[in-house]
Amino acid sequence: MSNNPSPAPQPPPSGDPREGDCRPWETRRGLLVAVAAPSGAGKTTLCVRMTQRFPALRYAISCTTRPPRKGEVDGEHYHFVSQARFQEMVGGGEFLEWAVVHGHFYGTPKAEVDAMRDRGGDVLLDLDVQGVESIRSIKYIDAVFCLILPPTYAVLRERLGTRGKDSPEEIERRMTIAVKEIARYELFDYVIVNDDLEEAATQLESVIRAEHARRTRLNADWYRSTFFR
Ligand code: ADP
Ligand code: 5GP
Repeated sequence: MSNNPSPAPQPPPSGDPREGDCRPWETRRGLLVAVAAPSGAGKTTLCVRMTQRFPALRYAISCTTRPPRKGEVDGEHYHFVSQARFQEMVGGGEFLEWAVVHGHFYGTPKAEVDAMRDRGGDVLLDLDVQGVESIRSIKYIDAVFCLILPPTYAVLRERLGTRGKDSPEEIERRMTIAVKEIARYELFDYVIVNDDLEEAATQLESVIRAEHARRTRLNADWYRSTFFR
Protein backbone atom coordinates (compact mmCIF):
# COMPACT_ATOMS: atom_id res chain seq x y z
CA MET A 1 0.00 0.00 0.00
CA SER A 2 1.26 3.45 -0.77
CA ASN A 3 2.23 5.75 2.08
CA ASN A 4 1.15 8.76 0.13
CA PRO A 5 -1.47 10.83 1.92
CA SER A 6 -4.79 11.21 0.13
CA PRO A 7 -4.62 14.02 -2.36
CA ALA A 8 -6.01 17.31 -1.12
CA PRO A 9 -9.34 18.27 -2.67
CA GLN A 10 -8.64 20.20 -5.83
CA PRO A 11 -10.53 23.29 -6.95
CA PRO A 12 -12.34 22.84 -10.26
CA PRO A 13 -10.03 23.46 -13.21
CA SER A 14 -10.21 26.99 -14.50
CA GLY A 15 -12.89 27.37 -17.11
CA ASP A 16 -15.01 24.68 -15.45
CA PRO A 17 -18.63 25.34 -16.38
CA ARG A 18 -19.69 25.26 -12.75
CA GLU A 19 -17.19 27.97 -11.90
CA GLY A 20 -18.62 31.34 -10.98
CA ASP A 21 -22.35 31.85 -11.27
CA CYS A 22 -23.37 28.87 -13.34
CA ARG A 23 -25.67 26.67 -11.23
CA PRO A 24 -26.85 23.12 -12.10
CA TRP A 25 -30.26 24.33 -13.27
CA GLU A 26 -28.80 26.80 -15.73
CA THR A 27 -27.86 25.78 -19.23
CA ARG A 28 -24.13 25.28 -19.66
CA ARG A 29 -23.94 27.77 -22.50
CA GLY A 30 -23.09 31.20 -21.11
CA LEU A 31 -24.99 34.40 -21.69
CA LEU A 32 -24.05 36.88 -24.37
CA VAL A 33 -24.45 40.42 -23.04
CA ALA A 34 -23.98 43.13 -25.66
CA VAL A 35 -23.50 46.63 -24.26
CA ALA A 36 -23.37 49.87 -26.20
CA ALA A 37 -23.39 53.53 -25.19
CA PRO A 38 -22.49 56.92 -26.51
CA SER A 39 -18.85 57.58 -25.59
CA GLY A 40 -18.63 59.00 -22.06
CA ALA A 41 -21.95 57.55 -20.79
CA GLY A 42 -20.11 55.21 -18.41
CA LYS A 43 -20.09 51.90 -20.29
CA THR A 44 -16.52 50.99 -19.31
CA THR A 45 -17.11 51.91 -15.67
CA LEU A 46 -20.28 49.79 -15.53
CA CYS A 47 -18.82 46.83 -17.44
CA VAL A 48 -15.79 46.68 -15.13
CA ARG A 49 -18.19 46.59 -12.18
CA MET A 50 -20.09 43.72 -13.78
CA THR A 51 -16.93 41.64 -14.21
CA GLN A 52 -16.26 42.21 -10.49
CA ARG A 53 -19.81 41.16 -9.55
CA PHE A 54 -19.99 38.08 -11.82
CA PRO A 55 -16.86 35.92 -11.64
CA ALA A 56 -17.95 33.96 -14.73
CA LEU A 57 -18.46 37.09 -16.85
CA ARG A 58 -15.58 37.97 -19.15
CA TYR A 59 -14.95 40.55 -21.85
CA ALA A 60 -14.63 39.25 -25.38
CA ILE A 61 -11.40 40.77 -26.62
CA SER A 62 -12.02 42.42 -29.98
CA CYS A 63 -9.60 42.79 -32.86
CA THR A 64 -8.85 46.29 -34.05
CA THR A 65 -6.65 48.01 -36.60
CA ARG A 66 -6.39 51.15 -34.48
CA PRO A 67 -2.99 51.66 -32.86
CA PRO A 68 -2.76 50.94 -29.12
CA ARG A 69 -3.21 53.90 -26.80
CA LYS A 70 -0.74 54.53 -23.99
CA GLY A 71 -1.05 51.75 -21.42
CA GLU A 72 -3.07 49.40 -23.65
CA VAL A 73 -1.81 45.83 -23.81
CA ASP A 74 -2.14 43.57 -26.85
CA GLY A 75 -4.35 40.58 -26.02
CA GLU A 76 -5.76 42.32 -22.97
CA HIS A 77 -7.54 45.45 -24.17
CA TYR A 78 -7.67 44.42 -27.83
CA HIS A 79 -5.92 42.15 -30.28
CA PHE A 80 -4.10 44.85 -32.26
CA VAL A 81 -3.81 43.63 -35.85
CA SER A 82 -2.74 45.03 -39.22
CA GLN A 83 -5.30 45.96 -41.84
CA ALA A 84 -4.14 43.03 -44.01
CA ARG A 85 -4.63 40.56 -41.15
CA PHE A 86 -8.04 42.03 -40.36
CA GLN A 87 -9.15 41.61 -43.99
CA GLU A 88 -7.87 38.05 -43.96
CA MET A 89 -10.01 37.35 -40.88
CA VAL A 90 -13.05 38.96 -42.54
CA GLY A 91 -12.46 36.72 -45.61
CA GLY A 92 -12.15 33.66 -43.41
CA GLY A 93 -15.47 34.39 -41.69
CA GLU A 94 -13.71 34.68 -38.34
CA PHE A 95 -15.83 37.54 -37.00
CA LEU A 96 -19.23 37.39 -35.37
CA GLU A 97 -19.54 41.00 -36.52
CA TRP A 98 -17.19 43.72 -37.63
CA ALA A 99 -17.52 47.45 -38.28
CA VAL A 100 -15.60 50.60 -39.07
CA VAL A 101 -15.70 52.88 -36.03
CA HIS A 102 -14.01 56.29 -36.00
CA GLY A 103 -12.05 55.28 -39.15
CA HIS A 104 -10.68 51.99 -37.78
CA PHE A 105 -11.80 48.39 -38.13
CA TYR A 106 -13.16 46.56 -35.09
CA GLY A 107 -14.38 42.97 -34.96
CA THR A 108 -15.55 40.37 -32.45
CA PRO A 109 -13.72 37.06 -32.96
CA LYS A 110 -16.31 34.30 -33.19
CA ALA A 111 -14.13 31.43 -31.96
CA GLU A 112 -13.21 33.26 -28.78
CA VAL A 113 -16.84 34.06 -27.91
CA ASP A 114 -18.01 30.51 -28.70
CA ALA A 115 -15.24 28.92 -26.63
CA MET A 116 -16.02 31.11 -23.61
CA ARG A 117 -19.76 30.42 -23.85
CA ASP A 118 -19.29 26.69 -24.38
CA ARG A 119 -17.32 26.56 -21.12
CA GLY A 120 -20.35 28.13 -19.40
CA GLY A 121 -18.83 31.59 -19.08
CA ASP A 122 -20.95 34.66 -19.71
CA VAL A 123 -19.53 36.97 -22.35
CA LEU A 124 -19.66 40.75 -22.38
CA LEU A 125 -19.46 42.41 -25.80
CA ASP A 126 -18.46 46.05 -25.92
CA LEU A 127 -19.94 47.23 -29.21
CA ASP A 128 -20.87 50.30 -31.18
CA VAL A 129 -24.43 50.46 -32.54
CA GLN A 130 -23.42 48.96 -35.91
CA GLY A 131 -22.14 45.90 -34.03
CA VAL A 132 -25.41 45.67 -32.13
CA GLU A 133 -27.34 45.86 -35.39
CA SER A 134 -25.23 43.09 -36.98
CA ILE A 135 -25.56 40.75 -34.02
CA ARG A 136 -29.30 41.43 -33.80
CA SER A 137 -29.62 40.28 -37.40
CA ILE A 138 -28.01 36.87 -36.71
CA LYS A 139 -31.01 34.57 -36.35
CA TYR A 140 -29.53 31.91 -34.07
CA ILE A 141 -27.97 34.29 -31.56
CA ASP A 142 -29.55 34.58 -28.12
CA ALA A 143 -27.98 37.76 -26.85
CA VAL A 144 -29.29 40.44 -24.53
CA PHE A 145 -28.77 44.01 -25.73
CA CYS A 146 -28.27 46.86 -23.27
CA LEU A 147 -27.95 50.55 -24.01
CA ILE A 148 -26.32 52.81 -21.43
CA LEU A 149 -27.47 56.43 -21.56
CA PRO A 150 -26.34 59.55 -19.73
CA PRO A 151 -29.12 61.43 -17.92
CA THR A 152 -28.69 64.49 -20.20
CA TYR A 153 -26.46 65.74 -23.04
CA ALA A 154 -24.96 68.29 -20.62
CA VAL A 155 -23.87 65.51 -18.25
CA LEU A 156 -22.42 63.54 -21.18
CA ARG A 157 -20.32 66.52 -22.26
CA GLU A 158 -19.20 67.07 -18.68
CA ARG A 159 -18.14 63.41 -18.27
CA LEU A 160 -16.19 63.48 -21.51
CA GLY A 161 -14.44 66.58 -20.16
CA THR A 162 -13.66 65.23 -16.69
CA ARG A 163 -12.39 61.94 -18.15
CA GLY A 164 -9.68 64.09 -19.71
CA LYS A 165 -8.91 61.77 -22.65
CA ASP A 166 -10.23 63.91 -25.49
CA SER A 167 -9.56 67.37 -26.93
CA PRO A 168 -12.46 69.89 -27.04
CA GLU A 169 -12.81 69.20 -30.80
CA GLU A 170 -12.93 65.45 -30.20
CA ILE A 171 -15.54 65.97 -27.46
CA GLU A 172 -17.76 67.89 -29.88
CA ARG A 173 -17.30 65.17 -32.50
CA ARG A 174 -18.33 62.50 -29.96
CA MET A 175 -21.36 64.60 -28.94
CA THR A 176 -22.50 64.70 -32.59
CA ILE A 177 -22.10 60.94 -32.90
CA ALA A 178 -23.96 60.48 -29.57
CA VAL A 179 -27.15 61.97 -31.04
CA LYS A 180 -27.12 59.34 -33.81
CA GLU A 181 -26.39 56.51 -31.38
CA ILE A 182 -29.12 57.54 -28.95
CA ALA A 183 -31.60 57.65 -31.85
CA ARG A 184 -31.09 53.86 -32.34
CA TYR A 185 -32.50 52.98 -28.93
CA GLU A 186 -35.08 50.59 -30.40
CA LEU A 187 -32.29 48.09 -31.17
CA PHE A 188 -31.97 47.33 -27.47
CA ASP A 189 -33.80 45.15 -24.95
CA TYR A 190 -32.81 47.27 -21.95
CA VAL A 191 -32.02 50.95 -21.55
CA ILE A 192 -30.12 51.92 -18.42
CA VAL A 193 -29.74 55.58 -17.55
CA ASN A 194 -26.44 56.01 -15.78
CA ASP A 195 -27.23 58.92 -13.47
CA ASP A 196 -26.37 57.52 -10.06
CA LEU A 197 -23.58 55.00 -10.72
CA GLU A 198 -24.54 52.60 -7.95
CA GLU A 199 -28.14 52.49 -9.08
CA ALA A 200 -27.19 51.95 -12.74
CA ALA A 201 -24.80 49.15 -11.74
CA THR A 202 -27.54 47.48 -9.70
CA GLN A 203 -29.89 47.75 -12.67
CA LEU A 204 -27.42 46.19 -15.11
CA GLU A 205 -26.65 43.48 -12.56
CA SER A 206 -30.40 42.79 -12.25
CA VAL A 207 -30.70 42.41 -16.01
CA ILE A 208 -27.93 39.80 -16.06
CA ARG A 209 -29.44 37.94 -13.09
CA ALA A 210 -32.88 37.98 -14.70
CA GLU A 211 -31.43 36.63 -17.96
CA HIS A 212 -29.93 33.71 -16.03
CA ALA A 213 -33.50 32.81 -14.97
CA ARG A 214 -34.98 33.00 -18.46
CA ARG A 215 -37.01 29.84 -19.21
CA THR A 216 -35.06 29.09 -22.37
CA ARG A 217 -31.87 28.95 -20.29
CA LEU A 218 -33.14 26.16 -18.04
CA ASN A 219 -30.83 23.12 -18.11
CA ALA A 220 -33.21 20.48 -19.53
CA ASP A 221 -31.13 17.53 -18.24
CA TRP A 222 -31.19 18.88 -14.71
CA TYR A 223 -34.94 19.59 -14.97
CA ARG A 224 -35.77 16.08 -16.21
CA SER A 225 -33.59 14.22 -13.77
CA THR A 226 -34.73 16.31 -10.82
CA PHE A 227 -38.48 16.39 -11.40
CA PHE A 228 -39.35 13.57 -13.85
CA ARG A 229 -37.12 10.65 -12.94
P1 ADP B 1 -17.53 55.15 -21.71
O1 ADP B 1 -16.81 53.84 -21.53
O2 ADP B 1 -19.00 54.97 -21.92
O3 ADP B 1 -16.91 56.04 -22.75
P2 ADP B 1 -16.48 55.81 -19.05
O4 ADP B 1 -16.82 54.59 -18.26
O5 ADP B 1 -15.05 56.01 -19.47
O6 ADP B 1 -17.43 55.96 -20.31
O7 ADP B 1 -16.98 57.06 -18.18
C1 ADP B 1 -16.76 58.40 -18.60
C2 ADP B 1 -16.42 59.25 -17.37
O8 ADP B 1 -17.59 59.40 -16.57
C3 ADP B 1 -15.36 58.63 -16.47
O9 ADP B 1 -14.53 59.66 -15.97
C4 ADP B 1 -16.17 57.97 -15.36
O10 ADP B 1 -15.45 57.91 -14.15
C5 ADP B 1 -17.36 58.93 -15.24
N1 ADP B 1 -18.62 58.30 -14.81
C6 ADP B 1 -19.14 57.10 -15.22
N2 ADP B 1 -20.34 56.89 -14.65
C7 ADP B 1 -20.60 57.97 -13.85
C8 ADP B 1 -21.70 58.36 -12.98
N3 ADP B 1 -22.77 57.60 -12.83
N4 ADP B 1 -21.61 59.54 -12.34
C9 ADP B 1 -20.52 60.34 -12.51
N5 ADP B 1 -19.46 60.04 -13.28
C10 ADP B 1 -19.49 58.88 -13.96
P1 5GP C 1 -12.18 52.50 -28.55
O1 5GP C 1 -11.27 52.56 -29.73
O2 5GP C 1 -12.42 53.86 -27.93
O3 5GP C 1 -11.77 51.45 -27.55
O4 5GP C 1 -13.62 52.02 -29.09
C1 5GP C 1 -14.31 52.77 -30.02
C2 5GP C 1 -15.69 52.17 -30.24
O5 5GP C 1 -15.58 50.88 -30.84
C3 5GP C 1 -16.52 51.96 -28.95
O6 5GP C 1 -17.86 52.41 -29.21
C4 5GP C 1 -16.52 50.47 -28.77
O7 5GP C 1 -17.70 50.02 -28.12
C5 5GP C 1 -16.48 50.00 -30.21
N1 5GP C 1 -15.98 48.62 -30.33
C6 5GP C 1 -14.98 48.01 -29.64
N2 5GP C 1 -14.82 46.76 -30.04
C7 5GP C 1 -15.75 46.54 -31.01
C8 5GP C 1 -16.10 45.40 -31.82
O8 5GP C 1 -15.52 44.32 -31.75
N3 5GP C 1 -17.10 45.60 -32.71
C9 5GP C 1 -17.77 46.77 -32.85
N4 5GP C 1 -18.75 46.83 -33.73
N5 5GP C 1 -17.49 47.85 -32.10
C10 5GP C 1 -16.47 47.73 -31.21
